[in-house]
Amino acid sequence: MTTERTFSIMKPDATRRNLTGAVVKMLEEAGLRVVASKRIHMSRAQAEGFYAVHKERPFFGELVSFMISGPVVVQVLEGENAMAKNREVMGATNPANAEPGTIRKELAESIEANTVHGSDSLENAATEIAFFFQPEEIVG
Ligand code: ADP
Ligand code: MG
Repeated sequence: MTTERTFSIMKPDATRRNLTGAVVKMLEEAGLRVVASKRIHMSRAQAEGFYAVHKERPFFGELVSFMISGPVVVQVLEGENAMAKNREVMGATNPANAEPGTIRKELAESIEANTVHGSDSLENAATEIAFFFQPEEIVG
C-alpha cells in the first residue's frame, strides 16, 4: 500500500444541484482526504486543454460546452491507492452501468453530466494536478 495523490473534478451538474458536500462526504467515507480544493469557472481554452486526450471523440464539443456551463470544484485527493479508490467510488462513466453506492449511480444525471471526473492513471493524475494547482496550494 502506498499513499497516492489523484485529481478530481466536481462537474457543473454537481455545483448546479448543490451536491458538492454530498460528493465530498462519499469521497471521505471511501478513505480519501481532500488536500487541495478550489471552485473555478473554466474557460473554453482551459477545458479544451484539459480534455485534449478526447479531442477526436464525437462528444468532445459537447463535453467542453458542458464543463464550462457552470462552476466546477477541482480537488486533489490523497490516500492509499487513491487513484483506483477514487475511480471505484466514482462508478462507471455511464451512471446506468454504475454499481449501487457509487457517486455516479447515486447522483449522476447522465453519461455526460456524470457529476465527477477522476484521473485514470497515476501519470495522468500528476499531469492533471499540475494543470490546476501550484505545489504550495496542496496541503496534506
Ligand atoms: P471517465 O470520466 O469515466 O474517465 P471518459 O474519460 O471516457 O470517462 O470520458 C470523459 C467524459 O466524457 C465522461 O466523464 C463524460 O462526461 C463524457 N462522456 C464520455 N462518454 C460520453 C458519451 N458517449 N457521450 C457524451 N459524453 C460522454
Ligand atoms: Mg477519463
